[in-house]
Amino acid sequence: MKQSDIFTKTSNVFPKDEVSTNARLLIKAGYIEKLMAGVYTYLYFGWRVIKKIENIIREEMDQIGGQEIFMPALQPKSLWDQTGRWSDLREIMYQFDDRSDHQIGLATTHEEVITDIIKKHIKSYKDLPKYIYQIQNKYRNEPRAKSGLIRGREFLMKDLYSFHADENDLDNYYEIVKKSYLNIFKRCGLKVFVIEASGGAFTKKFSHEFTVLSPAGEDRVILCSKCDFAQNQEISGEKEGDKCPKCSAPLKFDKGIEVGNIFKLGTRFSKEQKAFFTDLNGELKPIVMASYGIGLGRLMGTIVEIYHDEKGIIWPDEVAPFKYHLLVLGQSEKTLDLAKSVYDTCLKNKVEILYDDRKVHPGQKLNDSDLLGIPNRLVVSDKNDSKIELKKRSEKSVKLYPAREIIKIASS
Ligand code: ATP
Ligand code: MG
Repeated sequence: MKQSDIFTKTSNVFPKDEVSTNARLLIKAGYIEKLMAGVYTYLYFGWRVIKKIENIIREEMDQIGGQEIFMPALQPKSLWDQTGRWSDLREIMYQFDDRSDHQIGLATTHEEVITDIIKKHIKSYKDLPKYIYQIQNKYRNEPRAKSGLIRGREFLMKDLYSFHADENDLDNYYEIVKKSYLNIFKRCGLKVFVIEASGGAFTKKFSHEFTVLSPAGEDRVILCSKCDFAQNQEISGEKEGDKCPKCSAPLKFDKGIEVGNIFKLGTRFSKEQKAFFTDLNGELKPIVMASYGIGLGRLMGTIVEIYHDEKGIIWPDEVAPFKYHLLVLGQSEKTLDLAKSVYDTCLKNKVEILYDDRKVHPGQKLNDSDLLGIPNRLVVSDKNDSKIELKKRSEKSVKLYPAREIIKIASS
């Protein structure tokens, strides 16, 4: 893609009405645009990042047997009344009347809808287990929407639901999803801790949160300095300095961002919504369920919180909007021809490359490149003769290569 063709522009200043690092950088660089508190447009670059994250998640979900569907965001009160959550979630759910005076809610989550669907299709133990997911918008009337993409009021979530004949089968699959989640976050460049947390409105047992340590986080966590013991402070009886209940090493306190959360729902929804199956002995039983969420926008915001410096964003390779950023500095015909030939060859070899062909000052191109944070920068300039500079955004050193060599590296 040629940068001169892209409709968005970088800004010289940070937005005045944003306090979070992720929103400040993403808006300045032209990845997102704010419509109102907690509601953002993904612009061209931002949507490319979301697509990268989405592809990683989709690959990993398909890997563990997930079947992708797409459920509606508009949902009737009558369905939510079956579980009592229409009134339980009144504060966080957008609820309104339609023109026929039917009460409608915008999806905060999809347990009710998926359970209503599944009960029409799963009748026997032979139909179990099943794993169904979607990537879709959720709407929550969040009280504090000041953390940019980390806390949206309209936000993209991947939600997976699993359906089992018994607890044992659920327990096995739950561990498979845990591993899959760890792959997803690793591919996004993030180090996550698996944290015991409350089951929320769903269950008395623990749920598990996948948490990235960051001062920008709203979650308080207690971690062991040695082993994998980790709990959300909300439910933990431990405090900083206490001995770890697992290995006796000292516990420490930190702040974190919850990027994923997995819950064993048990039979709560299936009982209330009458989702039953016949088991091996012909007995009618409620389906055993779990749900597993990841916020795509929150993940993107978290990556920016972790990977940035005073100049801008530093995308990890797999989620970057482009792999290479080619800058042409100087206007001599030789330089322009060289840049054009590198760009054309990269396109032919299907290398994801952004070509800054704009007629602006070299300083601005370099600054914008640092702000955008594409992992590899190529500079073709009048000064370098026919050699090309390669610099990683995450490193200081610059190397010069002949054009042919660069094309080999980029296409590998
Ligand atoms: P929080 O405690 O941060 O409000 P939650 O526990 O209510 O989140 P879940 O219902 O567990 O959220 O949602 C699953 C995932 O969806 C979360 O782990 C997070 O990644 C994402 N998510 C939840 N709320 C938001 C939000 N307001 N904006 C962006 N992503 C969100
Ligand atoms: Mg949660």
